[in-house]
Amino acid sequence: MTATVLLDRLDGVRSCGPGRWRARCPACDSHKPVLAITETADGVVLLHCFRNECAAPDIVSAVGQDIADLFPPRVEGVHAAVPAKRRFSARQVLGAVNLELLEVLVIVGAIRLRGSVMPAEYERLKLAVARVSVAEGATHD
Ligand SMILES: [Zn+2]
Repeated sequence: MTATVLLDRLDGVRSCGPGRWRARCPACDSHKPVLAITETADGVVLLHCFRNECAAPDIVSAVGQDIADLFPPRVEGVHAAVPAKRRFSARQVLGAVNLELLEVLVIVGAIRLRGSVMPAEYERLKLAVARVSVAEGATHD
């Protein structure tokens, strides 16, 4: 479960249902549970701060984690080792690419506001490019 490590480091965590939690946002130091945490069926952790719309890289770095920790470990290095049997429909791949684009949009929005790029953001953008590259070869015909 990808969310467990993050949840252990957040304050004021409460469950809102299967795979969903609220907690205090460590990036804007909120005193209310303004941070929504959702773990998708494929183990990706989505974050949304309802107070300041804090960027996911800022949220995870505030608790000593990296943006890559929001994704299942097996996705790392998948480039070199995509099992031949793991093929996905075009719809599944487009859904994954859409999630990557949303992440890129959130990061670019944060960069635009701040006027600079944090190392974790740059690494996450590189990961997005790698994932979309992998997605291209992950569909069946
Ligand atoms: Zn926040």
